[in-house]
Amino acid sequence: MALGPVPRGSFGRVTVRSVAVLGAGLMGRGIAYVSAVGGYRTLLQDTSNGALDKAGAEISALLEKGTATGKLKGEEAAAAHQRLLTCRGIEEAVRDADLVIEAVPEDIQVKVELFASRDKLAPRHAILASNTSSLSITEMAAATARAPQVVGMHFFNPVHRMRLLEIVRALETSESTLQLAAEVGTRMGKECVTVRESPGFVTSRINAMIGNEAFYMLQEGIASAADIDRALKLGLNHPMGPFELVDLVGLDTRLAILKFLHRTLGEKFRPCPLIEQYVAAGRLGRKSGRGVFDYPAGT
Ligand code: NAD
Repeated sequence: MALGPVPRGSFGRVTVRSVAVLGAGLMGRGIAYVSAVGGYRTLLQDTSNGALDKAGAEISALLEKGTATGKLKGEEAAAAHQRLLTCRGIEEAVRDADLVIEAVPEDIQVKVELFASRDKLAPRHAILASNTSSLSITEMAAATARAPQVVGMHFFNPVHRMRLLEIVRALETSESTLQLAAEVGTRMGKECVTVRESPGFVTSRINAMIGNEAFYMLQEGIASAADIDRALKLGLNHPMGPFELVDLVGLDTRLAILKFLHRTLGEKFRPCPLIEQYVAAGRLGRKSGRGVFDYPAGT
C-alpha cells in the first residue's frame, strides 16, 4: 500500500496519530500491522510475553512479504516497523493514544473490565473501540464515562487481507465517532459498512449460522468435513469452506459467539454438541495445531 502524507484523521476535534491495540492474538497483531502500515504510531499490548513475541515475528514476516510481493516499498515497510512498539502494561499502551482498539478474548466480563480501566487511563479525547465479533458495545460503553466515544470496529481474519471493516453504532455512539472510525478504517486500507448494534452484527450472525449448520451435518454423518467444505466452495462459490474458516477463526472464539447468539437470539443458534466437544478436547483450530483438520507444525 502506498503511504500518503501523515494521517490527520481529524473529524470533530479528534486527530488520530497514535493507536493502541490491546491483545496481540490472531486479530490484535493484524490490526497493529494495518495500523502501522496506515501511518499511525502503534502500540501493541498484551499481558503475555509469548503473544507479543509471536506477534512481533509475524508482523515482521508480513512486512517482508509485503516488500517481496511489491505491495510495500522497502522504505514504507521500514517506516511501518519503526512506528510499531509492543508493551505489557496497559497504562503505557494507552496514555498517549488517540484511538484504543481492544482485541482480547470474546468474553464480556473481560471486555467490560478493560473498558473501565482504559477509560481511566486514556486521554479524555480518545476514542475507545472494540473488535468484538458479536458482543454488546453498549454494555462496554456503560463501563465508561464517554459512551459517545465508544464504537465497534470489527476487523476480519486475516486482517491484512480482508477488505471489510464493520463499524458498529452502539446506543450512544456519536456521529463524529462513527465518522472518525470510518476515516481511520479507510486509512488502514478497509472498506467500511456501518451497522446498528445487534448480536453478531451482520457478518458474525450469518457466519455463525452457516458454521453451526456445517457442524450438525458433520455430526449427522451427511458428508466428510472435506466434502462439506468442497461443496460450499464449488457449489456456492464461497472462497473458503466452513471448516477451513472455523479453523482459522478458532473454535473457542466461534463457540463463544454461538453461546452469546443462542442467549440473545434464541434456539436457532444453539451450539452443535460437536463443536463443544472439539473445544473441550483442545482442538481450537490452526492456533492449536488441530481443529476440524490437522495442521502439522510449519503448515
Ligand atoms: P486470541 O485468543 O487469538 O487473542 C487474544 C489475546 O488477548 C491473547 O494474546 C491474550 O494473551 C490477550 N489478552 C487476554 N486478556 C488480556 C487483557 N486483559 N489485556 C491484554 N491482552 C489480553 O483471540 P482473537 O481471535 O484475536 O480474538 C480477539 C477478539 O477479536 C475477540 O473479541 C474475537 O471475537 C474478535 N474477532 C476474532 C476473529 C477471528 O477470526 N479470530 C475475527 C474477528 C473478530
